[in-house]
Amino acid sequence: MNKAMTEIRKVEKRLFALGYAANVIGFDDATAAPSESYEGRGEALAELSALSHNFLVNSSLPELIAEAQASELSDQEKAELRELKKEYDRICRIPADEYAEFSKLISAAQNVWSKAKAASDFEMFAPYLEKIVAARRRFAQLLDPDKAAYDVYLDQFEPGLNTEKCDAFFNQLKAGIVPLLNKITASPDKPDTSILKGPWDIEQQKKLSPEIMKLIGLDLEHVAIAESEHPFTTEFYNGDVRITTHYYEEEMLSNLYSVVHEGGHALYESHISDRYFATCLSGGVSMGIHESQSRMFENCIGRSREFLKCILPMLKKAFPDRFENADPEVLYKAVNVCSPGLIRTEADEVTYCLHIILRYELEKKLMSGELAVSDLPHEWNRLTKELLGLDVPCDAKGVLQDIHWAGGDLGYFPSYALGTAYAAQFMHAMRKEMPLDELIEKGDFAPINAWLTEHIWQYGSEHSPEWLIKNACGEEFNPGYYLDYLNSKYSEIYNL
Ligand code: ZN
Repeated sequence: MNKAMTEIRKVEKRLFALGYAANVIGFDDATAAPSESYEGRGEALAELSALSHNFLVNSSLPELIAEAQASELSDQEKAELRELKKEYDRICRIPADEYAEFSKLISAAQNVWSKAKAASDFEMFAPYLEKIVAARRRFAQLLDPDKAAYDVYLDQFEPGLNTEKCDAFFNQLKAGIVPLLNKITASPDKPDTSILKGPWDIEQQKKLSPEIMKLIGLDLEHVAIAESEHPFTTEFYNGDVRITTHYYEEEMLSNLYSVVHEGGHALYESHISDRYFATCLSGGVSMGIHESQSRMFENCIGRSREFLKCILPMLKKAFPDRFENADPEVLYKAVNVCSPGLIRTEADEVTYCLHIILRYELEKKLMSGELAVSDLPHEWNRLTKELLGLDVPCDAKGVLQDIHWAGGDLGYFPSYALGTAYAAQFMHAMRKEMPLDELIEKGDFAPINAWLTEHIWQYGSEHSPEWLIKNACGEEFNPGYYLDYLNSKYSEIYNL
């Protein structure tokens, strides 16, 4: 390895260590820390963030990269330099004081958002969102003055993505999903969901979680589970990945599918190759690819007839009086009921992407300046009526429901829909090479996980989402697979 590359690896290791520390603090904050203890953690996090920033600014990274590029490099090293350069620009093009100011704004905004949501009072949150949008637009100018502000962030979450691609993708989805939803709504055949009615013993639910994790192939010596208000996954490195869940007495599916969804994220992270350890390539490549794995496990696999047959004995063991005589077919239809609702995180597979389209349309206009923050609730409600046919009774169930904008994340939402569509294409490709349904029904995840490791998981951030899709499927991204999947699944369930 050339001398400059050796120095660059030291920079990467330092960044890895600082990121590791911040991740542990973040995980502790969401899972175990006592409620009134933020002050110390906030200080520590701010200091760690300043350390990372100062370290990068003073690292001579641009010179080191130029020096390294003068000699022969491996493909991995080239990818490291590409990602490091991006990270350097992302952080160093924004003046340190503005960066710190923005971090403070985000902390305050998230705090006010949760109060505003509890009070269903958008006006309380609006001044913070105005500042966030203004800051994001300004940062976009600094990051890439030649690009539209929204495109800068779309590309950050999903390398290669832009408004033009999103418009085409979402138009195609809308044209496929809206007629399907209309047919479902008009169908007289509605699944019977009484099998899912609570209450469900929480202790039994807790015993089920690690069983499900083991079933889908997670190694519990490297992946741990905890509880938090909103489920999430965080990786310290590929040998220590954490998922969280939330238990509700009235809802058994919520925990079950949180574990399977976060389990999909954790499978991805824990199967990334050791060759990227402590480098900037050690995590998943994009939010879209990440969501493709979690949503594939949650929906394409987790809500399949075969998976439900497979886990029925586990459900019977946990809740004998509820599932003893359960018909797997009734359970399958119940977990796949389609019913337009107001809340994105509770949406079924058919309506989910409509929630994303709504957010996409709004944030695109917020970022271009076409839509003022003060008009946001009105536009939110109008689009909810247009896309889902529903009236929004209050902001808590409308424009205030998600934390993303309070967290400064504009441009994140499209990755959920992209991931959902990638997932169907990956399933199609896997199905050509193995008896997928049979394996799922037997609970034999080894061949499935081996295929995903070979084609996707192992690569960390070395290759772009486009490259991974082509590598795994032998063709470019095609949302048609997702629409075919939805149409055939729901036509059967609803007798369309
Ligand atoms: Zn997820």
